[in-house]
Amino acid sequence: MIAHYLDHYADARADFLQKGKALGAKTWALPIAATGPEGLALSIDIAWLGPPKAKRALLHCSGLHGIEGVCGSAIQRALMEKLPELPPDTALILVHAMNPYGWAWRRRVNESNVDLNRNFLAPDRPYEGAPEGYAKMDALLNPPSPPSADLYYPRAAWSVLRHGFNAMKQAVVGGQYAFPKGLFFGGTQLEEGPAAYSAWVSDNLQDLERLVVLDIHTGLGPPAYDTLLVDVPARSPQEATLAKAFQHEVVPWDPDAGVAYAIEGAHMSLYERLLTARTDTVTQEFGTRKSLAVLKALREENRLHLHGRPALDHPAKVGMLETFAPTAKAWRREVLERGLRVANQALGLLKD
Ligand SMILES: [Zn+2]
Repeated sequence: MIAHYLDHYADARADFLQKGKALGAKTWALPIAATGPEGLALSIDIAWLGPPKAKRALLHCSGLHGIEGVCGSAIQRALMEKLPELPPDTALILVHAMNPYGWAWRRRVNESNVDLNRNFLAPDRPYEGAPEGYAKMDALLNPPSPPSADLYYPRAAWSVLRHGFNAMKQAVVGGQYAFPKGLFFGGTQLEEGPAAYSAWVSDNLQDLERLVVLDIHTGLGPPAYDTLLVDVPARSPQEATLAKAFQHEVVPWDPDAGVAYAIEGAHMSLYERLLTARTDTVTQEFGTRKSLAVLKALREENRLHLHGRPALDHPAKVGMLETFAPTAKAWRREVLERGLRVANQALGLLKD
């Protein structure tokens, strides 16, 4: 099972395409202009399995946050190897490496330092502003220098004590549009990959009547545990329905409800804007390390990428792999099992 984990984007993409071909999938490649190391060509790849005119679909997405694609792609290719039985009139659509640049370069952000899960703003919402708390945190989060030892942990701990963990979490990771070299930057416009993907969604999913979107992420929550983040009101009947379908707690997007936080410009906001299908969105977040350690890995990699020489074998880049796709066998095995199980349960949700 854990052989499905391929740490490099190019290897995973080649395997995804080969498996898609073997299954007779209809495929699309949405190229982006930026390249990976040594001029590697990059694209978002999509494979449509099942009836081409299906009215129902499970849309399974990986790699919106670059390096997190190692895990999402492994789940997708394991699904392709042992394809679940699809309910009638239902397609399984796999979207591979939504941020191929980030994966190829071992980053969470894209070629413009943009966190793509903050980039899908509604057309009437300008790309500007930052949470009040972010500016106070800028010096701690984004030192304009290559990685070096600089008392990150005591300073981060002091911030937590001063502002409270949830307030700090919301200020830092909620998204910002004012610090282009900072972490969690949402961009100045819809980025190239998201624009191409949005157009693809408009062109190809318009006729769906029922849609479940499952987006795979890593780096949030307890190690190897998966949090299912859902876009329904807390303590609502919809929340109960989803919890039952997944036989697992589900967590609404709300900074005080659990590990999550409210974000603007989320990828999942796209479907409601563009489509008429009745839609459930589920973000499956696999925990890896403690949140301050995750933040430290992001901070060090950002310093290296923007102010140093971004070699893939630099400790800050290797740290990104360990933080967002831990190489420990037990973690990888458990995560793959849970990923497959939840994908199958999401297909079950399409029966009603
Ligand atoms: Zn993510």
